[in-house]
Amino acid sequence: MKKYDVIIVGAGPGGMTAALYASRANLKVLVLDRGVHGGQLNNTDAIDNYPGFISIKGPELAEKMYQSTKQFDADFEYGDVQSVKIEDQQKIVKTDTSEYQAPVLIIASGADHKKLNVPGEEEYSGRGVSYCAVCDAAFFKDEDVAVIGGGDSAIEEGIYLSQLAKSVTVIHRRDQLRAQPTLQKRAFSNKKMHFIWNAQTEAIEGDGNKITNVTYKDKKTGETKKLPVAGVFIYVGVLAQTMPFKDLGILDEQGWIPTDEHMSTKVPGILALGDVRQKDLRQIANAVGDGSIAGQEAYNYLQNLND
Ligand code: NAP
Repeated sequence: MKKYDVIIVGAGPGGMTAALYASRANLKVLVLDRGVHGGQLNNTDAIDNYPGFISIKGPELAEKMYQSTKQFDADFEYGDVQSVKIEDQQKIVKTDTSEYQAPVLIIASGADHKKLNVPGEEEYSGRGVSYCAVCDAAFFKDEDVAVIGGGDSAIEEGIYLSQLAKSVTVIHRRDQLRAQPTLQKRAFSNKKMHFIWNAQTEAIEGDGNKITNVTYKDKKTGETKKLPVAGVFIYVGVLAQTMPFKDLGILDEQGWIPTDEHMSTKVPGILALGDVRQKDLRQIANAVGDGSIAGQEAYNYLQNLND
């Protein structure tokens, strides 16, 4: 079993920052991820709310963060974490291929998109239903598409889609968006973007091969209506990626991880940061802030352990 001082699960902005701080403090650090470093940055087009950059592409920021972390020799390895158990002070992390141990575990596994759970969503997933505009927009050049949801993701991705699609119709269950005012302003002034308010999406329908329309209920009139589209992009919120940690007794009822201001969970030596934490605002900037605190806290914890 490979031994480290700190194991970080998740190589998103928060995980990489924790690795930067911990390895810069001369700790032996391993970062595990089942994908390429950068996490959700890799599915994000332009970022204009991360200080230091007027605007930067998500994958480019991911690479810059990776390069700054690597200068202090943190190890990055592929690993799909399955479970964690605690033996004495050691956290034993089991992935699909290996086992690792460290006295400090930092959980930075983030959040994933929620499903809408309507008929047709599963059937047409990858054949018109998508959760990533940056990945799939190119398939819908000059087509009509729908975006379901009214938060930052729905509106940001809708704006991105409008660069290629013929039209983007946002279907939202209320008559007000949840997204930040800046994004709302951009979307409302975008000629390709349209809005259907107070609409509950009921089904995604197609011809067996591809999507033909979205069916929704007008909540004001009770009428069922159809919108012809070739693609449906779903952004109805996020789910904590915490399945491997469910037996540690650190999750709340929704699966998020509560921490104190040092990013410590209720289990000594287990920290959590970024989107996976129980918190209101999920941003790159505060994930990075969490990461710096967690990296330093890992150092403090190990100092106390060795005293
Ligand atoms: P979110 O903020 O939770 O928004 C989810 C949206 O989906 C809401 O508008 C919600 O409607 C709607 N919704 C939820 N369940 C639904 C259902 N069953 N049917 C129809 N609509 C449903 O999720 P998100 O937009 O993915 O954002 C997640 C986090 O990441 C947030 O903290 C967000 O601020 C952050 N984020 C930030 C940026 C940025 O700063 N540029 C970009 C992306 C994401 P209601 O409004 O009626 O609840």
